[in-house]
Amino acid sequence: MNLIMSIFVFVCGLIFGSFFNVCIFRIQKGESIVYPPSHCTSCNNELKWYDLVPVLSYVVLKGKCRYCKEKISLRYPAVELITGVLFYFIYLKYGINILTIKFIVLISLLIVIGMIDFDTTDVYSSTTITGMVAGVIFILIGMYFKTNVPIPFIIGGLLGGGIIAIIILITGGMGWGDAEICLLCGLFLGWKLTVVMLMLSFLLGGIIGVALIALRIKSRKDYIPFGPFITLAAMIAVFFGQNMIDYYISMIIR
Ligand SMILES: [Zn+2]
Repeated sequence: MNLIMSIFVFVCGLIFGSFFNVCIFRIQKGESIVYPPSHCTSCNNELKWYDLVPVLSYVVLKGKCRYCKEKISLRYPAVELITGVLFYFIYLKYGINILTIKFIVLISLLIVIGMIDFDTTDVYSSTTITGMVAGVIFILIGMYFKTNVPIPFIIGGLLGGGIIAIIILITGGMGWGDAEICLLCGLFLGWKLTVVMLMLSFLLGGIIGVALIALRIKSRKDYIPFGPFITLAAMIAVFFGQNMIDYYISMIIR
């Protein structure tokens, strides 16, 4: 039963990953994510269901469009696979639980928002507002089923958005999109995991930013989007944040 459930969650992740590819590609072009049906971006031929099987179609077609033989980016099957794996690991960690659904929703939002930011250095309010609304809905669900009190999550949102807002106002660095992402993550994570997420994102951004400049991939003048670091940090917080907090506390009171 466990195995069937695991496979089910993984396959759901693959299918959702395929949909996130569409979202990532179309939102940054200002297109609808539901219409028109999937088509080759090179020859415009409409893709049949058998061209759209996550990962498998890419393998069978050897990474080329069936019609025009244009190369399909390896990123599409990669996003599908990563989504499947992340969904599975969330299920593995949280089991059959409302938390699993909540974190699957959060990770889904982060994949789309992070990838769009990576591509365009822009954060689209349509995506972050959707995320904030979802975060509030999960707070209300937690209240209804008495599994969560709302305050830590409201504080999480205010803390996440607030800290970035203060940094923007003082230094002028970072963007309001980053504040929106941190606000939405805070609503999902609660204030403790939000602190972990913020610290990890600064750490990751610092290390990778310095590495990119040292390796001359980016120059000091280049704008490096911070959203992907926040999304990565939030994902780490979902999986390991509580362990990190427990470890830190055990170090203090030892
Ligand atoms: Zn084509």
